[in-house]
Amino acid sequence: MKERNREQVSGGAAEPDIRLGQVRLFFDSIPFSIQAILLTSFLLAYLIWEVTSHRAILGWLSLVSLVSLVRLWQYRQFTRKDPTVEQVAHWWNQALLSATLSAITWAAASLFLFPPESLLHQLLFTFLVAGIAAGAVTTLSSIFPAILLFLLVDLLPLSWRFMMSDNHQERLIGAMTVFFMLLLLLSAQRLNETIMETLTMRHEKSRAEATIRRQALYDELTDLPNRRLLYNQLNREIARSRRHDHLGAILFLDLDYFKNVNDSLGHAVGDELLKQVAARLTGRLRNEDTVARLGGDEFVILLPEIAKNTDQALTRAHSCASDLRKLFREPFLVEGHTLHVSASMGIVLFPLDESTPGDLLQQADVAMYRAKDEGRDGFCLFHPGMQEALEARLKIQRGLRRALSEDQLELYYQPQVDRHGRILGAEALVRWHHPRLGLVSPAEFIPIAEETGLIYQLGDWVLETACRHIRQLNEHSPLAISINISPKQFREPAFVERVKEVVEKSDIDPGLLHLEITEGTVLDNVEQTIAHMESLKEFGIGFSIDDFGTGYSSLAYLKRLPIEALKIDRSFVLDVIDDRNDAVLVETIIVMARHLGLEVIAEGVETREVLSFLAQKGCRKFQGYLFSRPVPFAELIALEQPLLQEQRPCAPAPASAAG
Ligand code: C2E
Ligand code: CA
Ligand code: CA
Repeated sequence: MKERNREQVSGGAAEPDIRLGQVRLFFDSIPFSIQAILLTSFLLAYLIWEVTSHRAILGWLSLVSLVSLVRLWQYRQFTRKDPTVEQVAHWWNQALLSATLSAITWAAASLFLFPPESLLHQLLFTFLVAGIAAGAVTTLSSIFPAILLFLLVDLLPLSWRFMMSDNHQERLIGAMTVFFMLLLLLSAQRLNETIMETLTMRHEKSRAEATIRRQALYDELTDLPNRRLLYNQLNREIARSRRHDHLGAILFLDLDYFKNVNDSLGHAVGDELLKQVAARLTGRLRNEDTVARLGGDEFVILLPEIAKNTDQALTRAHSCASDLRKLFREPFLVEGHTLHVSASMGIVLFPLDESTPGDLLQQADVAMYRAKDEGRDGFCLFHPGMQEALEARLKIQRGLRRALSEDQLELYYQPQVDRHGRILGAEALVRWHHPRLGLVSPAEFIPIAEETGLIYQLGDWVLETACRHIRQLNEHSPLAISINISPKQFREPAFVERVKEVVEKSDIDPGLLHLEITEGTVLDNVEQTIAHMESLKEFGIGFSIDDFGTGYSSLAYLKRLPIEALKIDRSFVLDVIDDRNDAVLVETIIVMARHLGLEVIAEGVETREVLSFLAQKGCRKFQGYLFSRPVPFAELIALEQPLLQEQRPCAPAPASAAG
C-alpha cells in the first residue's frame, strides 16, 4: 500500500477519482486557510508597524487580500461546479496555483517586510511565517506538490534573509529555519501518505460496492440484466401500465437443443453462442425494451407499453416474436463451428389480472414449453388452461421422488391370453397410489420420470418387483411376465448387467422374463440396441416391440432385431371395426409378422367383435379389458380361467309379472 502511495504522490499515477478526492480535500480547506492567513497577516502588520515602512505593509496587505480573493473565487468555482473525474487535471493545476499564490505573499513578506534592525521583531516575524507554514501542512498536504511548493516558497526567502546577515546568531536562525522546513516537509509527506491510504481504501471500497451491485443485477456472461433486475423492472412496468392504462408483453425465449451444443462442442462454445444470441437480441429491440437472461439458455424480453387494447397488444407481441425468430435464420459462427440454432418463445400480456412478476414469468415459461411441444422454433400465447396442466405436472414431479422412497408404487398385471381367454402371460404395469391425488396413471408420470431421470430408479424397482413376483408365481404355476423398459433405461450402459444380476439373484428362469421396448428406443441408436438385445437374448430373455405401428420402423432393421413379438398399438385395435385404415394397417402388421416369423399381440381388445376380427386375420395373442383390466398381483394369482365366458345363445326375455 505504501509503495503504491509513493508512486501516486510523486508521479500522479493515482486513479482519477482518488485524485479528485485529493483535490476536494484541498479546496475544502481553503476557507479555513484564508481566515487563518488574514488573521496572521493583520497580526504581523500590527507587530511590525513600528519598525517597517507603512507603505510596504499596506501594499503587502493589499496583495494578501487580492490573493485571498482569487483563492476564494477558485473555491467558489470548485464547489459550484462539482467537478467530475474528467476535469480533475484542471483542478489539480488550480490547486497548485492557489498554493503558489499564497506562498508568494509570504515570500514577499520575507523580502519586503523583514525588520532588519530588531532581533525581537525578527523573531516575532519568523514565528508567524513559520506558524503559517506549519498550518499549511494541515491544509495543503492532500496534494504533495502543493505543500512542497508552499513550504519552499514560504520559508526559503526567510532563511535566505537570515543567512545574508554577518551576525553568527542570525545565520544560525536561518539554518534552523531550513531545518524546520525539512521537518515540516517530512510531516507533510507522512500526512499525505495517510490521506492517500484513506482515499485509496475509500475508492476500493466504493469500487467493490459497485461491482457487487453490478453482479447482483447483471448476468456475468452476457452483461444483460439478470432475474432480479428484471423483476424490479417488471414491477415498475406493471404499475406504470396500470396507471396509464396500456398493455405490455413478456416474451420468454429458450433456445432449442442448446444442451446438444454444450454436450457435443463444450461449454466454451455454448457460452460464446449465448453471448452472440444476447447481442442479436439486444440489437433488434427498441430502447425502452429490456432483454434479460434468467440463466442457462433462457432469455426474457420485456416489451412495455405496446398497445392500449388486447387485440393490438397481441398483434404487436406476435410481430415482435416473429421478428425475433428471424434473428435465428442466419447461423451463428462460433470458434469455427457454424451453428444453426432456433428458439421457442412463450408470450404473456400484462397487466390483465393481478399477476405478479413471478406469475407472469411462469406463465410465459409455460407457454414457451407449449411452443416446444408443438415442434419448437415458434411461439405460443399463454392461456389459463396451460397453468393448470403445469401445476398438476409440478405436483407429480415433486411427489414422484417420495413415491419411490415411501413405497407408494405397486405393480399391476394385465393378462395376455389366447382367443379363448386362457392366460399365456401377463404385462406388468406400474401404479402409483398418490396420498392425495389417488391412483395416478403411468401415462402421466412415466414421461416425467423420464425427463427427471427418476426413471432409472423406477425402472429398477419394476425389474426387481416383477422378478420377485415371477418367483412367487413359480410356486403356483409359472407364468411369463413382460415389463416395459423406457428408452433412457435401456440405453444405460450398465442395463444388461443389471438385468442379469437381478434375474440371477431372484433365482428365476430368464425365459419367464420378457422385455417390451418401443420403436423409438430402437431408432435412437440401432447398433447399441441390437448389442444389448443380443446379449440379453443369449442369456435367455425375450423381447417384443411395444406400441408397434406408431413409430417409423423399417423392415430393414426389424429383420435384424432379435425379437419374438410385435405388440399392435391399442389405438389401431380399438377402432379396427369402424376405421377402414386401421383395419388395413392391423392386417398388414399381422401378415408382415408372419413373414418375419414373429408373434403378434393385440392390445386394447375391448369387444368380442374386435377379438373375432383379429383372430380371423391370424392374431393369436390378446390383451385388453375384454379379458381383464390390469389387476394387483394377488388378484392375478386368483384369476379364474378362462377369462372369456363362452357366449350362449340369448335367453328368452323373462315373462312379465303383470298380465
Ligand atoms: P403400454 O405399455 O402400451 O401399456 C398398455 C396400456 O394399455 C396400459 O395402460 C393398459 O392399462 C392399457 N390397456 C390395456 N387394455 C386396454 C383396453 O382394452 N383398452 C384401453 N383403452 N386400454 C387398455 P397404463 O397401465 O395406463 O400404462 C400406460 C403406459 O405407461 C404403458 O403403455 C407404458 O408405456 C407405460 N408404463 C406402464 N408401466 C410401466 C413401467 O413399469 N415402466 C415403463 N417404462 N413404462 C410403463
Ligand atoms: Ca407395454
Ligand atoms: Ca403398448
